[in-house]
Amino acid sequence: MPAKERYILALDQGTTSSRAILFNKSGVVIGVKQIPFNQIFPRPGWVEHDPEEIWSSQFAAAKGAIEAAQIEAEQVEAIGITNQRETTLLWEKATGKPVHNAIVWQCRRSAEICQELKALGLAETVKEKTGLVLDPYFSGTKLMWLFNEIPGLRARAEKGELMFGTVDTWLIYRLTGEHRTDPTNASRTLLFNIKEGRWDRELLKVFNIPEAILPKVQASSSRFGMSRKELFGVEIPVTGCAGDQQAALFGHACFEPGMAKNTYGTGCFTLLNTGSVPVASRHNLLTTVAWDLGAGTASGAGTGYTYALEGSVFIAGAVIQWLRDQLGLVADAAESEKLAKSVEDNGEVFLVPAFVGMGAPYWDSEVRGTVVGITRGTTKAHFVRAALESIAYQSRDLLVAMEKDFGHTIPCIKADGGASMNNFLMQFQADMLDRSVILPEVGETTALGAAYLAGLNVGYWKDLKEVEQNWRKKREYSPEMAREKRDRLLARWAKAVDSARSYKPD
Ligand code: ADP
Repeated sequence: MPAKERYILALDQGTTSSRAILFNKSGVVIGVKQIPFNQIFPRPGWVEHDPEEIWSSQFAAAKGAIEAAQIEAEQVEAIGITNQRETTLLWEKATGKPVHNAIVWQCRRSAEICQELKALGLAETVKEKTGLVLDPYFSGTKLMWLFNEIPGLRARAEKGELMFGTVDTWLIYRLTGEHRTDPTNASRTLLFNIKEGRWDRELLKVFNIPEAILPKVQASSSRFGMSRKELFGVEIPVTGCAGDQQAALFGHACFEPGMAKNTYGTGCFTLLNTGSVPVASRHNLLTTVAWDLGAGTASGAGTGYTYALEGSVFIAGAVIQWLRDQLGLVADAAESEKLAKSVEDNGEVFLVPAFVGMGAPYWDSEVRGTVVGITRGTTKAHFVRAALESIAYQSRDLLVAMEKDFGHTIPCIKADGGASMNNFLMQFQADMLDRSVILPEVGETTALGAAYLAGLNVGYWKDLKEVEQNWRKKREYSPEMAREKRDRLLARWAKAVDSARSYKPD
């Protein structure tokens, strides 16, 4: 009998659902299962997840994907994990029981702690060591909040009775019993020195976090452990791990410095591979670990990591949701494309969707949404088109800032996410960037990245070259717009942003 075909299982633990996807050797999806779970909002601005639900939904999704693909668990060669980043968990070593709900990346409860740390003048040190900014978004101050608020917790942590982890670590722990993470996740905690590739003793001391609770950090493509036999009936090696945005960069096969991806979801997440040297940003972008393939450097010096610059647009696809749900201008997101294409141009209307302030390169939390250029002739179509265009302008601003920090040209952008299905938006993005925007055939780039990391470690894929050959383009949008027209639009967008920022209600 011929040997049964083998597959890689990617676990994609997201903010609103747990997904599992099986890939074959060509990187094609052969089975998917997605299970949503509860969002817990204890107070305005606070967000939690139940750790048990994260685990049970993820495990059920894994089994569901195997069932959907109609294969046996023994045909799974390896498991790769990718996850919502920064979300913070703490559990008991003896029982594996969480001591608190997971504090989700969106949760703002540690804002005051961040202010205190800033007042101590720590922002520069933190940026220098971790590549991050002092914001409640990252794990470190969420962990400080737990120690400050729950009596007796720090003493227990000091005695080595507790384990800290981001979601990857939690899943690895439940799958294998090991307490481990990878540098892409560690680099989102505010506790990890990305230049030295280890937990930073000085920061741990300042933040008063006991070292005993931290997981072991190992390469993103390496053996994290074997899944317990009772889970799938067979032991399966867990050999890949990366945070979701870094996994997407890997899944897009952005292996060379200068390659970038933009995920067009609710917001946009842009990552640029900057190679083996961490690039410090002068535009408030984050410096982060893109992946660690475990090879180390040839000379034995340095971390051997690949680094990335990262930035985000807060409101992207969300502006289309707003048109649909709040204004009723479109029946569904796809209709926005039809309407945008029904007019020749934006009719001089520019919409700055700064609903929650603006991120890099502006970093203005006070600015709010603004529409300029409305006339008697403005139609619904112009308005919708202006909304779509705003996604492309904001992404361009971000990429231009990245390019300046990086010091080299970014030749093209690889795109994924829900709004990347919009042909008008993708063409307009190519026009505004004056470079190609490329969509991959397999849109599941995040899960694919985790699968590649896992598969490379077990020899399912031989090397990066083989992975690269697997990468297939679905569509390429090349710039078509005349330079003058582009420059005029960009100049007006800049004016629209200025006018939004100059409006101060008080
Ligand atoms: P997330 O992972 O952030 O939830 P998704 O990648 O699922 O986001 O994308 C959903 C977002 O994409 C929504 O904000 C939606 O408005 C937007 N979107 C989906 N389809 C389209 C489309 N055809 N045109 C424009 N926006 C779209």
